[in-house]
Amino acid sequence: MDRNLSPELDVAIRAVVEAGRVTRTAQTALVVSRDRVLKADRSPVTVADLAAQAIMTARLQEAFPGDTIMAEEDASPLEGSDGPGLEVRVLELVEGSLPGLDGRGLSALLERGAHPGGPDGRFWVMDPVDGTKGFLRGEQYAIALALVVGGRVELGVVGCPNLPVTPGDPGSPRGCLFAASRGGGAFQLDSRGLEHRPIHVDGVSTSSRGSFCESVERAHSSHGATARVATRLGITAPPYRVDGQTKYAIVARGEASLYLRLPSRPDYREKVWDHAAGSCIVHEAGGRVTHVDGKELDVSAGRTLPDATGIVVSNGRIHDEVLRAVREVLADGRGYTGSAVEVVP
Ligand code: AMP
Ligand code: MG
Repeated sequence: MDRNLSPELDVAIRAVVEAGRVTRTAQTALVVSRDRVLKADRSPVTVADLAAQAIMTARLQEAFPGDTIMAEEDASPLEGSDGPGLEVRVLELVEGSLPGLDGRGLSALLERGAHPGGPDGRFWVMDPVDGTKGFLRGEQYAIALALVVGGRVELGVVGCPNLPVTPGDPGSPRGCLFAASRGGGAFQLDSRGLEHRPIHVDGVSTSSRGSFCESVERAHSSHGATARVATRLGITAPPYRVDGQTKYAIVARGEASLYLRLPSRPDYREKVWDHAAGSCIVHEAGGRVTHVDGKELDVSAGRTLPDATGIVVSNGRIHDEVLRAVREVLADGRGYTGSAVEVVP
């Protein structure tokens, strides 16, 4: 892979590796001082988010000065009452990567992420800390970067700084990256982005033998609806709950056959940065990513996906069978809130 990397994939991998160093530092500090972090205090994740976004933006800007960026964060947290304190902490965190950066420079980098998206041209899609709840819990989160050209995802990189390197072995060393480019296959890389191996979805062809992953947060995906789908398919393995686009990586490397994301509220629109990179990796690993009606994700309609029916990610073989089961479950009227079995905040 190293020898044939496109400049874009090479830069994207390096950017995610570098961003992962700072988010890891920030999360370690958070875990060490856990008992002093108030539940409502989001500032540790904001610091990591802004630092990672600034670093990745700077690297993309250096390599591809003409490119635009759609990123989750902007400079607004720096303008609030906590702004000055946050700014100091972010600048401290990025010092090793962006020496000499000042508050103005930081805001300018962050404001470059405002691209509205759409069907034309090329733009990068960035989620600097995807799965902030997992980050705060000291668990899984992802750093996601994708390139969209003409409304289609061309490449995706997902960094998983806490994911065990060996599928199914929680005792193996933690920290890996996943990368794919359209038509070029999908790979798992080490946390420095150097060594790599091709990855593939699993070979399960009967849904009942499969396993599924889903969001830890029931507010992001209805656990009630996914449980009913699993029952209908005869899946007995318990759900693998994990935060961020880590779930796409887990399906791509064959650790689970399915990732189900079923709406917990009808009005929520999924964000492009929560799916662009991960979907490219699963696709290149041989899997399928669609909405419940079988349509592929449309990343060309702005900063959100236009279809709000839910998302099914699979190894491909069981996809149609799973879609049928999901449609049946959603049609039974308890799809969104699953109010008979769960309360969604
Ligand atoms: P996950 O780690 O799978 O729980 O997904 C994290 C992402 O969920 C965040 O990056 C948010 O953008 C997104 N999110 C926030 N609210 C919702 C919601 N109501 N439904 C689906 N996704 C959401
Ligand atoms: Mg996210």
